[in-house]
Amino acid sequence: MEPSQPDPQQLAQFLRLLQGWGVSQLPQAGAASPVQPQPQAHAAASPGASLHSTPAEETVVNKPSSVSSGSSQAASSGSQAAVQLSLLGSTPAPGASGGLWEEPPLPPEKRPQALQELAQQIARCTRCPEPVATRTQTVPGVGNPNARLCFLGEAPGADEDRLGEPFVGRAGQLLNRIIQACGMKREDVYIFNVLKCRPPGNRTPTESEAANCWPFLLRQLQIIRPEFICCLGAVAARTLLNTKAPMGRLRGKVHLFQGIKVVVTYHPAYLLRNPNAKRQTWEDMKLLLREMGLPIPERKED
Ligand code: SF4
Repeated sequence: MEPSQPDPQQLAQFLRLLQGWGVSQLPQAGAASPVQPQPQAHAAASPGASLHSTPAEETVVNKPSSVSSGSSQAASSGSQAAVQLSLLGSTPAPGASGGLWEEPPLPPEKRPQALQELAQQIARCTRCPEPVATRTQTVPGVGNPNARLCFLGEAPGADEDRLGEPFVGRAGQLLNRIIQACGMKREDVYIFNVLKCRPPGNRTPTESEAANCWPFLLRQLQIIRPEFICCLGAVAARTLLNTKAPMGRLRGKVHLFQGIKVVVTYHPAYLLRNPNAKRQTWEDMKLLLREMGLPIPERKED
């Protein structure tokens, strides 16, 4: 039997995860791998390095079936708690991000507690000096721990920082109306951000901050196991989909992240400034609803 080769996607994923955690002097993933990268899939682990690397046309993103058994053995042999620790502790274990998806889903009744414990870990996090220096509190996420659909935004703003809940200001009220227009309630979905702390002055998160916070996002998805993610704005979409593509190329199609279907639309804060774009967002919502197999309500202008 031939010795198994390391999976190049997973190796790249792990190296990027390490970079995101501040480990420097790593080899290039391509150079380290004896196997040519697959053109139809790209590693989706750490947003830090990956924001530069992948064209948006590549919509198939690191499906669970593409994760090789070799590098995930360590993760799959441990308990779920061990996997969680390896991701959120100071030293991620090799294959941790791939192994994450190979763990069986948590039973629905255990997910609220798991999210609560994760929120406590997030509250103790001090990885990003600037947000830590100015934040009032961390803003992990809110909503249904068993949601089919998650909405992913960029970072908390002033209102969210004050109240500890994402999307509670004017943009949040607009998001609520969008959710209602889709025939759902805010409590039906899960809402969170790429960054769990407010960047000073509401500036755009840096790549290193997004990379620092990435394991928390990954863990939230692992707990909730949504079928669909709606990315609100370019930062959320580019971070999750590992791309620098413009919104025009990200919208209007269904992407995949770890087997989760992803639709991209404008951030509600952008819609407040550009109300004409609401029509395009409604088109995105219709795409999402069709994918979810839900009826498309008649749109009421607001
Ligand atoms: S943004 Fe995320 S990684 Fe950075 S300090 Fe806050 S919780 Fe930690």
